[in-house]
Amino acid sequence: MHIGFIGLGNMGAPMARNLLKAGHRLTVFDLSQAAVAGLVEAGAKAAASPAAVAGTDAELVITMLPASAHVKGVYLGEDGLLAHVRPGILLIDSSTIDPLSAREVAAAARAHGNPMLDAPVSGGTGGAAAGTLTFMVGGEAADFNRAQPVLAAMGRNIVHCGGAGNGQVAKVANNMLLGISMIGVAEAMSLGVALGMDPQVLAGILNTSSGRCWSSDTYNPFPGVMDNVPAARGYTGGFGTDLMLKDLGLASEAAKQARQPVILGALAQQLYQTFSAQGHGGLDFSAIINLYRKDAQA
Ligand code: NAD
Repeated sequence: MHIGFIGLGNMGAPMARNLLKAGHRLTVFDLSQAAVAGLVEAGAKAAASPAAVAGTDAELVITMLPASAHVKGVYLGEDGLLAHVRPGILLIDSSTIDPLSAREVAAAARAHGNPMLDAPVSGGTGGAAAGTLTFMVGGEAADFNRAQPVLAAMGRNIVHCGGAGNGQVAKVANNMLLGISMIGVAEAMSLGVALGMDPQVLAGILNTSSGRCWSSDTYNPFPGVMDNVPAARGYTGGFGTDLMLKDLGLASEAAKQARQPVILGALAQQLYQTFSAQGHGGLDFSAIINLYRKDAQA
């Protein structure tokens, strides 16, 4: 299939490479020349703008951009996709943005005669490179079925979450819970260790008891408890505090619009904000434990 791909950053570039590996033809665009050059070297064709991507005979266009403002620019701008794309072409936005913006762009696409899916991902840059991402997809079932084989070249779990925007709803709900649960584990581990427990023994108890969760058993924030997690390498790599902060901001924004309280989500946002303001926004989000540890040198 001929696919257009816009946004070749830390996630988009490896995703686009997996589409090439699966045998698809790609036409790509990014504001960064270096990002485009990398994909051209791998076999993609370059386009000079979103409009130029839309002007090809691509049957489907995927975008992977930083935030809502970039997505609105690329889809709704004068030189954007919707002003130039042929009706009927399927549009898929995999960026993480707020659900209401996703619904707004999808409605504009529909009005132009283009089906659109929101398909944010989880799995990080490792999952993007390995082709094992989870896609949370919002939109019509028929469009989901059309996209499924293409998404399967980049991911392992492809889940239809309901109508337009629901992929983003699933993503913000999950990441809000992750942000909260990491703080809970950080707090419990720090309390136990401050009261004299060995961190490894305590983690073993949590992980076979009712406090167990992904933040405790797969991504424990206490150094020395697990290998191959950011806590074992000075909180480098992984999922940055500022990216978690972005997702908690999306959750608060969506909650405000739905008039739905997210009390712990808001508190978690403030804790990560404090940690980021201290200069640690680039550290993995599990480093939030350093707000609790008296001996921490973040
Ligand atoms: P990134 O900043 O590395 O890449 C974004 C790319 O978009 C950049 O190459 C940038 O030049 C390009 N871009 C920006 N504006 C553009 C425009 N108007 N036209 C064309 N290209 C433009 O970001 P990323 O880490 O690849 O993340 C992309 C999205 O995926 C974000 O929404 C992020 O929240 C989400 N996400 C990231 C991760 C992760 O671990 N990095 C995990 C899950 C989801």
